[in-house]
Amino acid sequence: ASATDDRLTAGLNPQQKEAVEYRGQSLLIVAGAGSGKTSVLTRRIAGLIDSREAWPSQILAITFTNKAAAEMRERVAALVGQSSEGMWISTFHSACVRILRREAEQFGFTKSFTIYDSADSRALLKRILKELDADSLGFTVSQASGKISKLKNELSDVESYSRQINAGDPQDVMFLEIFRQYTRELQRANAFDFDDLIAQTVYLFRAFPKVAAVYQRRFRHILVDEYQDTNHAQYALIRELTRPVDPDVVDELERGGQFVQSLRDGSGRIPGASLTVVGDSDQSIYAFRGADIRNITEFEHDFPHSKVILLEQNYRSTQNILDAANAVIANNFDRQAKNLFTTVGSGDKIVGFTGYTGHDEAQFVADEIAALHDSGTAYKDMAVFYRTNSQTRALEEIFIRSAIPYRVLGGTKFYERAEIKDAMAYLISVANPADPLALRRIMNVPKRGIGPATETALQRYADQNEVGLRDAMRDAASLGLGPKVTGAITGLATLLDGVQQTAATDPVSDILVALLEGSGLVAALRASRDPQDEARAENIDELVAVTKEFQKNNPDGTLLDFLTEVSLVAAADELDDSSGTVSLMTLHTAKGLEYDAVFLTGVEEDLLPHRMSASEPGGPSEERRLFYVGITRAKKKLFLSLAMTRAQFGEVNVAMPSRYLQEIPAELIDWKQSPGMANSRGGTQPRALNARRDGGFGGDSGAYGNRPRAGGGYGSGSYDRATAAAKTRPKTEWANRVTGTVRDNGDLELDAGDRISHVDFGEGSVLAVTGVGPRRIAEVQFDTAGRKKLLIKVAPIEKL
Ligand code: ATP
Ligand code: MG
Repeated sequence: ASATDDRLTAGLNPQQKEAVEYRGQSLLIVAGAGSGKTSVLTRRIAGLIDSREAWPSQILAITFTNKAAAEMRERVAALVGQSSEGMWISTFHSACVRILRREAEQFGFTKSFTIYDSADSRALLKRILKELDADSLGFTVSQASGKISKLKNELSDVESYSRQINAGDPQDVMFLEIFRQYTRELQRANAFDFDDLIAQTVYLFRAFPKVAAVYQRRFRHILVDEYQDTNHAQYALIRELTRPVDPDVVDELERGGQFVQSLRDGSGRIPGASLTVVGDSDQSIYAFRGADIRNITEFEHDFPHSKVILLEQNYRSTQNILDAANAVIANNFDRQAKNLFTTVGSGDKIVGFTGYTGHDEAQFVADEIAALHDSGTAYKDMAVFYRTNSQTRALEEIFIRSAIPYRVLGGTKFYERAEIKDAMAYLISVANPADPLALRRIMNVPKRGIGPATETALQRYADQNEVGLRDAMRDAASLGLGPKVTGAITGLATLLDGVQQTAATDPVSDILVALLEGSGLVAALRASRDPQDEARAENIDELVAVTKEFQKNNPDGTLLDFLTEVSLVAAADELDDSSGTVSLMTLHTAKGLEYDAVFLTGVEEDLLPHRMSASEPGGPSEERRLFYVGITRAKKKLFLSLAMTRAQFGEVNVAMPSRYLQEIPAELIDWKQSPGMANSRGGTQPRALNARRDGGFGGDSGAYGNRPRAGGGYGSGSYDRATAAAKTRPKTEWANRVTGTVRDNGDLELDAGDRISHVDFGEGSVLAVTGVGPRRIAEVQFDTAGRKKLLIKVAPIEKL
């Protein structure tokens, strides 16, 4: 019998139960979405603690977001009570920060290091590129930062990279120099970028076996959620942590009295930690950040004698939703077939909708949300997903107008606002005096007359005397600058030095307030005539409130703890379930989450799959997985929507239905009509009009012709026919039809004053024609339907 209390396995299916109770060196749980992977991991931890097989402090569990970590911690606590304290449940990044704060001194950093976010590292790279005149060789900041990130995720450093390059290639040599300077500047600033957090921890473990031994010994059980999205560096970290502890190191440490209780086995070794990973290769969506699906597919090879458990029963969604998900993902050829099923029944059909424009689509989403809310679904149980952030604009506009409370996750984040970054830079300058980036940011904020020339003089002084920028500021008097500027510089240095004296013990909010008052930052904003500045001052007040809240939740929290927390806030962490709002987020952010109702918008070619994916190997498969992730978030209701034209980057473009839509069996989707269109027709739809629609958009000419278009709000009659036709048609032809050419009015001559007839809006007069070629737009005053802008190329219009 297993040591796991029956209470902890109650309600689990046999495979889940086995996964919770298995006790061996390594366990891989591969399973589709919603099959209880995360739940099983949680119960496994609870089981280990509850049965006293492990102390909480011997457990390291890795989740994909801080929010998921908090949830898991809460659930374990609910299962085993108080004794859960001391577990490490966190993201890779948080766990590494924790380790690095303790150990940074081992390799030339201090524990008060700054964490550079992507904006910070780009700012640093920009300086370096400029100094090296790298753009003359065609380098851009994005390119350089992408390449550096990739190298770090592969655990390459400057030295190993220098051995790979072609020394005769000026591009290679230049990039090496960029990489070298970037690395050196980070080191000088006592800073790590995001990728460093993992890579440097791996380096630390490899270079310092004694340090590694401490953690190898400490963590006896390592559990990783969302393993399919780990990159090489994260994989290497897991490998280091699960290694048996070197017996010589154990001897040494035990002699030093560091290990109180020996964990040696019969042969004197301390065996490696047990490893449990859970994942779903169908949900691997972070290849662009270096995630390597091979970590999961080669797990059994990498960790011999591992046990593999499959879970197939889904507990989240209805069968209709699962059928759609299964059908879509089956088109990825390089996967192990698995099929999700549920016992909850087929549930409602998926609702499909084709809007005329993005606004039309957004209106549909808003109307459906309002209706669901009226019938008892809470706003917080609904979510809207999209592929790109730019899609939020239309949604937000309509939501505001429709009074639907919503929240955009990962949009313009609070901590990305300039004024918040300014205030944070004051805090960072106090915590990490070596960081010149933060110091430069606040040097003349608020304005104190320190211009670029002064900054350059300070930097030159620092370089010549091999001291930091901050030291140079203290010595400002010896730089021969004017008295006013000198006073401003030393004033700032004195403020920072003063606050720094008590920063280790003061509450974070006191530190912040002291800095704000001493610098006059908020006062300057309040005194400004720019109306935006009042809002900026309020944002800083909000930051003060955040620090107070932090102190309340973490009575012993230090300034460093606060800075760490802020640095690691990810999009999905902003979620607040109690907030009572609809959540808007990208498909990438949606991973691991679930909602009663899900709106998956912009299901169009160029958006999903994204235009950029076409040129990448495996791109379309990865995009299909993203679509799969989106579908499988829905518990009860799934809405798939698209628009025929979409305004993006100031242009209106013809949109085509996503190729993935045709992969969903037609009978699973109920295509709805656009209410606007229905109204303009005033009720029942004449058959003639219907037929004409098929002739216009559908039939043989139409990209929109088949399900998305013909069904998409163009009458149930055409829907049925399209469905019936689809069933008898060979797949290739079907595909050709859906991705074929759009109805094309391309050479329709149209001028101001012309009379036209529109399928939905009736007759009207052309007011103006703008744009060229396929982007020609007609502004039309309809006799009854008001004024509209139409993309001539695809609009269902005829010249009268
Ligand atoms: P994803 O792939 O999306 O990360 P997952 O495999 O981690 O999904 P969970 O989030 O753990 O799945 O579970 C999905 C839902 O099913 C949750 O609401 C969970 O509470 C529920 N669930 C899991 N197992 C069971 C079970 N045996 N009985 C009832 N509900 C369950
Ligand atoms: Mg999960």
